[in-house]
This record gives sequence, structure tokens and C-alpha cells, in this order.
Amino acid sequence: MLQQTGFTILKAVQFLNRHLGREGRRWALVMLAALLCVGSLGWWLRERSLEPSRAPRPFRVSEHKLPLKQGVDPKLVDSSNLIFEEACKRRNIPFELVKTEGDPVKAIMDGKIDLTQVIFDSPENRKRIYISEPWIVDSSWLVAPENTGIDSPAEVVGRRLWIQNNARHKFLAAQNFSGARVEAQDSADRAVEGVCLGLADAALIEPVTADSRAHFQGLAACAKVKLTFTGPPKGRIWFGVGGRKDAATKMAVVAIREEIGRMGEDGSLARIYSNHGLDPNNAVILLQDLNALRQAKLYMTIALGVLVLVLLALTWQGLRLRKARQRADKANAAKSEFLANMSHELRTPLNSVIGMTRLSLETDTAAERKEFLSIASASAESLLSVVNEILDFSKLETGKLGMEELVIDLCELVESSAKVFAFPAHQKGLELVCDVAPSCPRWIQGDPVRLRQVLFNLIGNAVKFTPSGEVRVLVAPRETDRGLMLEFTVQDTGIGIAEDKLAMIFEPFSQADSSTTRRFGGTGLGLAISRGLVQLMGGTIGVESSPQKGAAFHFTVPMHPLTAHSSWPGEALLGRALVVDDNATARAAVETMLRYWGLTVTTASDGESALRALDEAKRSGEAYSLLVIDSDLRGMDGFELASMAQSGYGLGHAIVMLLTSDKCTLTAVRCNELGIVAHLIKPVGRAELLASVRRVVYGAAEVGEPSLAGSKIMHERPPRSLRILLAEDNAVNRKLASTILQRAGHTVQTAENGHQAVEQVRSGEFDLVLMDVQMPEMDGLEAARVIRRDEARTGAHVAMIAMTAHAMSGDVERCLDAGMDGYIAKPFQPRDFLETIEAVKAKIEHDRSELPSAGD
Ligand code: ADP
Repeated sequence: MLQQTGFTILKAVQFLNRHLGREGRRWALVMLAALLCVGSLGWWLRERSLEPSRAPRPFRVSEHKLPLKQGVDPKLVDSSNLIFEEACKRRNIPFELVKTEGDPVKAIMDGKIDLTQVIFDSPENRKRIYISEPWIVDSSWLVAPENTGIDSPAEVVGRRLWIQNNARHKFLAAQNFSGARVEAQDSADRAVEGVCLGLADAALIEPVTADSRAHFQGLAACAKVKLTFTGPPKGRIWFGVGGRKDAATKMAVVAIREEIGRMGEDGSLARIYSNHGLDPNNAVILLQDLNALRQAKLYMTIALGVLVLVLLALTWQGLRLRKARQRADKANAAKSEFLANMSHELRTPLNSVIGMTRLSLETDTAAERKEFLSIASASAESLLSVVNEILDFSKLETGKLGMEELVIDLCELVESSAKVFAFPAHQKGLELVCDVAPSCPRWIQGDPVRLRQVLFNLIGNAVKFTPSGEVRVLVAPRETDRGLMLEFTVQDTGIGIAEDKLAMIFEPFSQADSSTTRRFGGTGLGLAISRGLVQLMGGTIGVESSPQKGAAFHFTVPMHPLTAHSSWPGEALLGRALVVDDNATARAAVETMLRYWGLTVTTASDGESALRALDEAKRSGEAYSLLVIDSDLRGMDGFELASMAQSGYGLGHAIVMLLTSDKCTLTAVRCNELGIVAHLIKPVGRAELLASVRRVVYGAAEVGEPSLAGSKIMHERPPRSLRILLAEDNAVNRKLASTILQRAGHTVQTAENGHQAVEQVRSGEFDLVLMDVQMPEMDGLEAARVIRRDEARTGAHVAMIAMTAHAMSGDVERCLDAGMDGYIAKPFQPRDFLETIEAVKAKIEHDRSELPSAGD
């Protein structure tokens, strides 16, 4: 059994080890340790409670008086008392023997004693007291003449039954022979004699051994009778430990019984029985059986415990796996959806490129060809922007996206970003407002391209997901626990986002609702990229929204103002201005700007109230010098208002400026007709408003402030003709690059792999080598290394620029390490391509001129 349990445990441990992860194993160990701790604590508490010093008084034990076997001196102390005494001493359990009369169970119930060692085991008694396992189970036998056929209690019903005169036999008679006519006799011999003489039909006597059986048959033989012995009947005499049902006594019961078990094993029990002339086998064998049974039970419990542990661990593991699987399924579904979207996003412009180029090949009309090609070109641009988005995302994922630190004109950046969306916004009838708080610094430091990218995404989404109403772009400084930050907010009145989707939309490939994709398109990467970029800039991004109530996306970036140019220059413009716009936000934005420059500003939300204000001004003699009117006023529109103001309200010298939402030539014509001197497209930029006001109201020439924006970018040089070797394996790209180069006046030779490039550099003279990185036979990096090794011998240095589609930041380093002087990411715009070539050439020449000449 021990082996089997050990084997089960070993298997379980191996199983857990194989199937649980590290966390699972740790968890199982913790459980096991907890179980051991609880077990040890329980054991310790029990032992402690049994210490003599803790017992309130010695346990009172009933003194058993019944001799177990006939013929033994009744004055001898009963063996069960001795057994009890020894067990208590061995366990240090304080006790005293107390003489009681009658049923010891009753004595316990009456509070006369605490423990007893001989009990009638019956369900009733088990209800009344706590009863341990026995160390002897005993019963009595039914004796009857052989020919009467009496061998069960049923046969004795209504007959005479003689029993030994003691509590035990009375109990058994009451339990089993309630229908018999019972008569108690002094001894077993007397009862059997009665049967032999026919005075009784049967006798109930104490256990029969081989010796006593022969003795009784001897008695019967005298009366010429043969006896049958049937037994033992139901109802057992229990030599165990019984005790009151309180916790302390219960523990004593268990401890004493445990000790008696040990006495059975070490021979003490057998010794006591032998001293009393009793047969020890009965008790010792039973004890051994019971011990074995108990051990089996213990092993079973341990094995069961381990199994439960395994089951729990497996269930836990299963739950974890299911969760992981659900997560993986979700990610998989999102990726599949993303692939489907992406494929759609790529295919649409690609189809258009293919279709339009085919059409342009088929048409003979130059005008049509131009139109087809311009559509193809626009589609290719949009294709490129999707690819760029994927590229940006993967750069962010791999931590390969670097940030530049340039000077940024904050207002210009925000306003020009918003202006890009003016046309689609106006087409939908949306009001697009830009409001950069005057307290913002004018110049900040950062990466303008990345900041613009985030703004593009947020404003683009706002316009895309807003069917009517307005989109506001707000910028203001904010004190946060990370220091002074600039907070950008893009607020719209569009379809909004459900609360449970708010966190998800920043995850890559996730869209709030897949039907969104069908309606609006998109890859679900924009916000993930924006979040990554904002975090790289050291800020945070978030959103507040509820369905149909619009959304407000906001992000922060550290302020880093350039202190010398930290705020907007104030203007000392004098006079009064009237701003008329039915959109409160747009009105407030213009009002703030004009006030900042010193003008006294009145506002009106419609044509009528504007006319009233003009009237009042005329009467009070404080005429307006400037009227800024929104062209799309509800009711009386801006043109009408301008014309009425000029005809009936004596505008005097007031200048009228119109804010319009389109660039339509008709607007310009109408403005001319109405004498409106300036019209600006909404959203109105701060710089352009100031310039217009200065020009049209105060007649000032446009004084360009020295621009610091992008001040790291330098050198504009006239292009010159270069001898260029173009190494590129792809025929189309080769054609494209050489056409661009030739059109720019350069001479081009081509190579199709690294080997050819090396050979041509060895045999020819070039000002520049354009080297594709990925080429068959010998790649561009290897070719560059070979060329540089050759040059180490000759001292020459040809300018070399790498061209690759792997636009990761690590790639730049790899190219430079291989000996390249510069780097161009594919696909490239012709202008950027030529500019990079110029810049690299110029840099090499500049470096060379700085080297000391041989004569120095
Ligand atoms: P895309 O716009 O390419 O799907 P984004 O990452 O930019 O990807 O946006 C993810 C999703 O967030 C969008 O598909 C849309 O469900 C939701 N979303 C973004 N901006 C807005 C907005 N202003 N109003 C409502 N939903 C928006």
C-alpha cells in the first residue's frame, strides 16, 4: 500500500511537473505547504491541549470491574483498567479511576466520569458519547441442544432463554432476544446446565473458546445432549475508549486509543493480557488489523489529497489555457480582420493605379492621358501612405523609431495640420476651428513630422467620424505631475465611441466596430501609432467619448519652450472690431486673437445683431475699424450682411474681412463686388489673421519674422551634373531612378548586382554610386565593403548612397558601417531623391575641404 501510494504521488508530481508551467508548479507547492502547515498546526494544538499542565483536572475514568474470564480471581484489577492506565501514563494524560455503578455511558451523560473503556457499541450510544475504534470487539454465543434447530434469535421468540447475570448479557438479550422469556443465572455453567436439563430452551453466554466448548460439551454429555454454538449475535461489546463529546475529551480519547494501538505493536498489550491469564490474540490481532486499516486509510487520504491537488492544478491550468486561447483567438481574429482590411486598403489604390495606367496606355488624347495619370499618381500616393503606416507601426513595435529635436512653430504646425482637412470638413458642412491659447509658447522643440502625424490622425478621424457639427483643435499649456506640458485636444460632435471600446481602439488593428471599417475604411493602426509616438515624445494620450455625443481625444507633450521666443509677440493694434460668427467656438477663437493684439472686440452671432451693433456704434460715435464676418451665417449670410452694412449702416472706414469655408473663385468675385478686402479660409491661422489685419487695416507691409522652424535643415545648393553608377536589380526601379537622374542632368550607368557594381567602379570613374541593398549574387552592403577595401589601397573615395525598402533605424547604421555615405528609403519622391544626392555630395566635398592639404 505504502509503495502504491508513493508511486501515485511520484506519478502525480511528474505529471504536474510536465503539465504545469512555472507559475502552476509554484502554486501547487504553495498549496502543499499550506496543507502541511495546517496539518502540523492541528497536531501541535492537540498535543498542547493534552499536556497535563493544561488539563483543568485529571480525566475521570470508570473503573471496570468485570472479570473477562471465568475462573480468574475477581479481586485482580481488571486488565482493561491496566491497559488504560498504561496508555495514559505513556501519553502523559492525567487521569483517575472512579467507581461507578451500571451503564458507564449514562455515568458520562450524568457528568460523573469523563472516559470509559468498555462500551456497548450501539447507534444510540454513538449519538450520546464519542466512541473510538475498539481494541477488542466481543460478543456472546447462543447455546442450544442440537436437535432443536435453535440457531438464531428468531427461533428463541416465545421460548426460555437463560443468560449470565451481568449488564453485558442483559444488554445483548434486550438487543437481540426481545421476544424471549429471559432469565438471568449466576454463571455460564448454570445457564448451560439449564439447557442440558431442559429447564431452558437456549442459553446466552460469554465468548466460547475451544477449551470452554469442550467443557460445555462435557456437561451436556452427562445429560446425553449435544449442543450447538451459534454466534456472535448482533450488538457488540466494545473495548475501546468512550468519552464526553467536548473537544478536550475527544482529543484524549483519540490519543489514548492511539497509544493502545502502539501497545499492541510493541507487546505491552499481550503482556497485560497474559498476566491476567487471558488470551491476548483476540485483541492484538484485531489491533494489528485495525492499524493496517488505519494506515491504508491514511495512504488513501494522502493519495486522494494529491489527486485533488492534481485535479485542482489541472482545472486551473485548463482555465489558464482557455483564457490564453481566447486571447490568442481574439488576436488572431483581429489580425485576420486587419489582413482583410489591409488587403482592401492596398487593393483599392492598387486597382486604380493599374486601371488608370492601362487606360492611359490605351488613350490617344493627351488631356485624357494626363487625367488618368494624375489619378494613378494620387492612388499611388495613398498606397504609399498605407504602407508607411504599417512601416511606422512596425518601427514602433521594434523600438526602431527615432525622434528628431527641431524647432517647431507651434501655431503654424497646428493650424496647417488642421487646414489640410478644411476641404473635406467643409464639404460635409463641418465647422473646423483651431484655437491655440495665447499662453502657449510660440516655438517649441520636438519632432514636427511626428507631431503633425499625430494631429493628422486625430483630426482626420474626427472629420471622418463626424457627419455634422464641428471639429475643434485646441492647444493649451497644462501643469501636470510630469511638469509643464502642452495639451492638444481634438474634439468632435460625431458618432462617438461606446465606453467598453475606449481602451481597445488604441490597440493595433482594432476598430470600435467592424462596420466602421465598411463605412469609413481605415486600418485600425492610426491610434496605435499615435499612442506610440506620443509616448516616445514623453507624453500621454487618452479619449473621452460616448456614442452619438462625439469624442474628445487629447494628448500631452512636454513643453520644452525655447525661452528666447517663448511667447507670441504682443501687438499694439488700436481700434474696435466686430466679429460675426454663428459658431461660438470659431467666434471665440478670433475674438481671443484680436483682443490679444490690443483691439477692442464686440461679437455677434447673426446678421441682425451685427447690424444692431453697427447701428449703436454709429450713434455713439465709436465706429468699428474692422468687421470680421463668417460667410456661412445662418439666416442672413455673410455676403448679405457685408452688403447691408456697407449700404445702410455707414461703415465709414471700417474694413470688412470674410471668413469662408471654400476656395471657390466665385467667392473671390463676390468679395470684389462687395469691396471686401480680404477673405480667409477657415480655420483661420493666427499668423495669417495678424498679417491680414496689419495689411488691410493698418496698411503695414508684411514683415516676415525670422523663422526658426526646422532650423536644423540647411543648405540649398544648385544641382550639378554627376557621373552616377546605379546598382539596382529590379528593372522597373532601375528605369525609374535612371530617368529621374537623367532628367536632372546626370549621366547614369547601371549595374544589376553587387559584382557588376564592384567591377564597374574598378574600371570606371564615378562621382557617385547609388547602391540597392538587396541584390542577388552580391548584396549592396557587401559590394560597398569591397569597394571601400579597394579604395583603402588607392586613397580614392567615391560617394556611395544606399537605397533600401527596409526603412528601420538599425538599417541606417548597417549601411553606414558598410561604408555608405548616405541612405535613401524606397519608395522615394523624385525631389527627395535628388536632394539626398546633393546633400551627400555636398557633405563629402565639405569634409574634404576641411582636411589639411599636403602642403599644410
Ligand atoms: P482607423 O481610423 O484607420 O480605423 P484608428 O486607429 O485611427 O484607425 O482608429 C481606430 C478606431 O477608433 C476607428 O476605426 C474608430 O472606430 C474609432 N475612432 C477613432 N477616432 C474616432 C472619432 N473621432 N470618433 C469616433 N470613433 C473614432
